[in-house]
Amino acid sequence: MKTINSTGVSSGIAIGTIKVLDTAEHAIERRAIDNPEEEVARFRTAQNTACDQLKALRDKTAAELGEGKAELFDAHQLMLRDPDYVESIEDLISGNKVNAEFAVNSTAEQFAAMFEAMDNSYMQARAADIKDISKRLISILEGKSDANGANGDNPYIIFAEDLAPSETVQLDRSKVLGFVTAKGSSNSHTAILARTMGLPAIIGIADALDPQDDGKLAVVDGTAGLVFIEPDEPTLAEYRAKKKQYEDHLRLLQELKGKPTETSEGQKVRLYANIGRPSDVASVLANDAEGIGLFRSEFLYLESEDFPTEEFQFEAYKEVAQKMGDRLVVIRTLDIGADKQVGYFGLEHEDNPALGYRAIRICLTRPEIFKVQLRALLRASVYGNIAIMLPMITSVQEVHDAKAILESVKDELRAEDKPLNENIEVGIMIETPASVIMADELAAEVDFFSIGTNDLTQYTLACDRQNPNLGRFADTHSPAILRMIRTVTEAAHRHGIWCGICGELGADLTLTEEFLNIGLDELSVSPTSVLPLREEIRKR
Ligand code: PEP
Ligand code: MG
Repeated sequence: MKTINSTGVSSGIAIGTIKVLDTAEHAIERRAIDNPEEEVARFRTAQNTACDQLKALRDKTAAELGEGKAELFDAHQLMLRDPDYVESIEDLISGNKVNAEFAVNSTAEQFAAMFEAMDNSYMQARAADIKDISKRLISILEGKSDANGANGDNPYIIFAEDLAPSETVQLDRSKVLGFVTAKGSSNSHTAILARTMGLPAIIGIADALDPQDDGKLAVVDGTAGLVFIEPDEPTLAEYRAKKKQYEDHLRLLQELKGKPTETSEGQKVRLYANIGRPSDVASVLANDAEGIGLFRSEFLYLESEDFPTEEFQFEAYKEVAQKMGDRLVVIRTLDIGADKQVGYFGLEHEDNPALGYRAIRICLTRPEIFKVQLRALLRASVYGNIAIMLPMITSVQEVHDAKAILESVKDELRAEDKPLNENIEVGIMIETPASVIMADELAAEVDFFSIGTNDLTQYTLACDRQNPNLGRFADTHSPAILRMIRTVTEAAHRHGIWCGICGELGADLTLTEEFLNIGLDELSVSPTSVLPLREEIRKR
């Protein structure tokens, strides 16, 4: 039995088979081969297997997510058979007498570099596709299972170097039991996704990540931050019992459904949930959240192959609004950039993307993209109780500029006789130190504040939220952050607007008392954190 002691970022216990995802770039060995014909034949067999995998993935995606989403896998099959691509690989094998893995990798690098250098963002995005199909081919040649984990019907625990948001969206969620990553931080999107899905997650296992563990049995304790690989019988028995206990507690929490979120002295807090996609609403309702305090709309963009259309977005926002009925749905406008990269945006490489061109900065400088989203949001606003929230605000001017674009979109819709909620509320995220300092001036301009403690911690403490090595320096309980939360809440109340938290800190039960003292009006947390938080507030 191997025991790994690391950091738990999403509680719960998983017992299941390990699937090691090959997300890290690993060096591809160059080997001299004696028989090029045999090697070409090995490549062609792998090519056929890759096509079969993609066909299966295509059919599954079409059935589960619709034809539109499945098209990507048709395109990948065509690329695998592209004559230039195939010729380059076979020439390298035959001409240089090298192994197929090396030939595929060299061709991928060369083709991807060529696409990346093109002037057109569509063609630039094809570089990622070439890398993707080549990775699949190399995995097959190396004798590994399907790169996307699409094979096999048994659920598994994902072990990976790290998972980018774009990779997590490709996972078959119904099969995932938990996450263990070598890198990551408690505010990384893998951690957030795990909490949304109610699955245990552990980060920062570093060198303990071993591809040889693929297929082995593991126990993951997301509460204690422990992983046991090939557990012995007593450990397995202990964790089966703990898992049952944990599930019993979750069932007990169900009794809090429908009960008010208030302290014994009658102080009320609105308890909302965070989501990334319309399908998460099921979990919001199952956990009895009183609204949605953060819909990370950029996930609609991350899951698309090209800019999502107005109609596609309208349907998504309308579906969420309708399912939530009278309950408030705060939709945050596009927060692309930093760790959430989308190829078709054609964003330039940045040395410091977290301090770069992201979120509202993209929306204000590329209004043609922003307007499509605002049109969809306004059109959906008549189907429920939608509010708009702007991310990464640093100045009053940005609010004025965003509102001017919003007004122009309202004018357009009125001219087209399209109904909209004329009084739709507009709030901002407080996630930069500048917005904290300007809180009074900003409060005079908007209808609500929601504090994004994930980024606010990153920018205030100068600690990259993706960096697992900062330890005590990335102190989420820093008095600097807590004082900022108080400052912002007081500024909001001076101006008669509400103030909440939608960052991960909102679910930290050791701070609930402090948040009640500060007088926060709302806490928006992962759906599975709603009932534990209600329990905590009702104990006060
Ligand atoms: C935050 O920064 O706290 C936040 C809620 O936004 P995100 O985690 O999506 O950056
Ligand atoms: Mg943020």
